[in-house]
Amino acid sequence: MSLDVFSLKGKIALVTGGGTGIGLGISKAFIQAGAIVIITGRRETMLKEAATELGEHCKYFVNDVTNRKGIPDFISHIETQIGAIDILVNNAGIHHKAWAQDTTDEDFERVLQTNLISVFSLTRECAKYMLNRKSGSIIMIGSMAGLFGVDRVVAYGVSKTAITGLVNALVTEYSKSNVRVNAIAPGWIESNMFLNAINKDEKRKKQITNRIAMDHFGKVEDIGNAAVFLGSDAAKYITGVILPVDGGATVNF
Ligand code: NDP
Repeated sequence: MSLDVFSLKGKIALVTGGGTGIGLGISKAFIQAGAIVIITGRRETMLKEAATELGEHCKYFVNDVTNRKGIPDFISHIETQIGAIDILVNNAGIHHKAWAQDTTDEDFERVLQTNLISVFSLTRECAKYMLNRKSGSIIMIGSMAGLFGVDRVVAYGVSKTAITGLVNALVTEYSKSNVRVNAIAPGWIESNMFLNAINKDEKRKKQITNRIAMDHFGKVEDIGNAAVFLGSDAAKYITGVILPVDGGATVNF
C-alpha cells in the first residue's frame, strides 16, 4: 500500500485561529504533510509570527470570524486569489469560565457567536464551493465539554455540544456531494488557553489529571496529526465522526 493517501500534497487548507495553540499545531502538521495553509485570527502580530515560523507554504489573513457579513467575500477572495479550499478547519474558539448563575446573556451569546454561529456561516460559505466541486473535508474542533458536563463553562459546553448536532446535520446533506464533515474533540491539550485556565485552578487541574488514562496532557501536534488524517484521502470514507484525542479521558473511570 502506498502511504500517499495520507499526504496533503497539493491541498489548500483554511485554519481559523491558526496562529496560536491547537490551530498552530494543526497548521504545522498540515504543512509537514504537504499542504498550503491559510491561517486567520484577529491579532496580526500573532499571525505574522506564526506565518514566519510556518514558512513559505503559509499565508495569513486578519479576519474576525464573528464578522459574518464579510465571510462570503473573504472566502471568494481566497478561492479566486489563492485556490480551491480543500480542507476547512473550524478551530477558532473562545472560552468563558463562570458558574451558570454568573454567566450573563451577553457572555453566553458572545461564546456562541464565535464557537457556533460563525462556524456554521463559514462552513456554509466554504461548502458552496466544495459541493460544486464534489470534494472537501470540513473539520470542527469540539471539546470534552461537548461530550460530558463540565461545571463553570456553561456557554462553552453548549457551543461545543452543538458542534455534534452540526456535524450530524451536515453529513445528511453534504455526503452525496463527497464533502466530509468530522470533528475532533481534544482532551486537555497544552495551549495558552488551557494553561491560563488551569494554572489558576488547582482543584480543576487535579480533577483533570485524575481523569486522563495516559496520565499527561496532550500536545498540539496530537491534534495536528489527527487533523491531517481526517483531511487526507486516507479518511475518504470517514464522515460524521467525533474523534476524541484525549489520552483516554472519555472512557477512563
Ligand atoms: P487559543 O486561545 O490559543 O486559540 C484560539 C484561537 O482562536 C486564537 O488563535 C484566536 O486568535 C482565535 N480566535 C478567537 N476568536 C476569534 C475570532 N472571533 N475570529 C478569528 N479568530 C479567533 O486556544 P486553543 O488553541 O486551546 O483553542 C483552539 C480550539 O481548540 C478552540 O476551539 C478550543 O475551544 C478548542 N479546544 C482546546 C482545548 C485545549 O485543551 N487547549 C481542549 C478542547 C478544545 P485571535 O485572538 O488573534 O483572534
